[in-house]
Amino acid sequence: MKFFKGIYNYIASLSRGEEVLSDRRKFTYIFSAFAFVHTVSAVFFIILHNSLLITFNILSVLLYFGLISLARKKHYLMVSLISEIEVLLAVTLISFTYGSMLGYSLYCFAMIPTIFYITSTVKEMKHPAAYCYIFSFITLLVFFTIIVSEPFFTIPDVLSARPIFTLVVRLFNAAVAFFFTLVFSLLFVWEMKSNNSQLLRRNQQLVEVARKDPLTKLANRRSMMERLNLSMQSLKSDNHPFSVILCDIDHFKKVNDVYGHDCGDKVLVTVANMISSQLRDTDFVCRWGGEEILIVIDGRLQTAAAIAERMRGNIEATEVMHEGQPVKVTMTFGVAQAELSYRIEDLIQLADTRLYYGKEHGRNQVVSQDMKE
Ligand code: GH3
Ligand code: MG
Ligand code: MG
Repeated sequence: MKFFKGIYNYIASLSRGEEVLSDRRKFTYIFSAFAFVHTVSAVFFIILHNSLLITFNILSVLLYFGLISLARKKHYLMVSLISEIEVLLAVTLISFTYGSMLGYSLYCFAMIPTIFYITSTVKEMKHPAAYCYIFSFITLLVFFTIIVSEPFFTIPDVLSARPIFTLVVRLFNAAVAFFFTLVFSLLFVWEMKSNNSQLLRRNQQLVEVARKDPLTKLANRRSMMERLNLSMQSLKSDNHPFSVILCDIDHFKKVNDVYGHDCGDKVLVTVANMISSQLRDTDFVCRWGGEEILIVIDGRLQTAAAIAERMRGNIEATEVMHEGQPVKVTMTFGVAQAELSYRIEDLIQLADTRLYYGKEHGRNQVVSQDMKE
């Protein structure tokens, strides 16, 4: 029961594209399936007393055991070629002995999704497209040769005398060929699905790397510039007001010097989290530089100044624990509202001037007006 549940879970995760078969497993499974068909076929030909085909099928079984161990050594192209030739040879040999009554020609169809699956998903395969087309074409030629020669073929007496046996062999081959076609088509689609979701994940990671600061996980300067441009456009077109808060940790150098750089990082992350948790969805925050954070507030100066004041108070009241010791920091804030005549640089410059004023006049404060020296 547990075994079947394990298999079911494995297939389910393959179908969701969460897992893919390793290249070694692909060859092991395919060649084991081929060896199985040859074993059953050997039994069929024992019943038909055809010693040539009995020998051929037994040798094929041995060949596939050999190919499985060669595939372990990653000789993928060679094992694929040998197996392809073997299948076509077997189909031709059997079909020219018994006609297409036994249904072996159906394996020509099953070969095509198998070839596409292997060549497209095994990384070591060289020139996968050429390989697929050439083998599909040869397979088609073999199949058509069998079909064309069919009307000129007289059904051997040994088959006419055994209609039920012939039907059983035919049904077996039809079922196996159908099963191969279905399974390899499914595996192909599932693996493509997995590749796709892997690409999507990587893409998301890349977008994140391009837009976020790795330490604080805040947006970076580049995404802030995009946001500032949008807010500026909205101010110009709809008169929608916005403000910026530029803030900087006070005496941060001292935190690094006294407690170490790791503690500085921890403080920076804590402050970043605190600030972003106090913002609304319409606001935007980025790490502007070292220990400077820039915030866009969707609103007028008074709103932004009130938000900054709340942040200042919260940061002042917070202790960052480092190696059992509480570390306290404060921040100084410069706030400015955008005007129609401003460029983005002017707005940030204004916030920076106010921040600088706050730094010069005792730190741990919010400055939202132009102050006289
Ligand atoms: P002020 O109150 O005037 O802002 O003083 P300050 O010491 O904070 O300012 P200063 O610009 O002299 O020092 C900033 C320090 O921030 C220096 C730099 O090493 C540190 N810093 C910048 N980025 C990081 C970081 O990612 N991690 C850590 N731990 N420190 C950083
Ligand atoms: Mg500082
Ligand atoms: Mg600074």
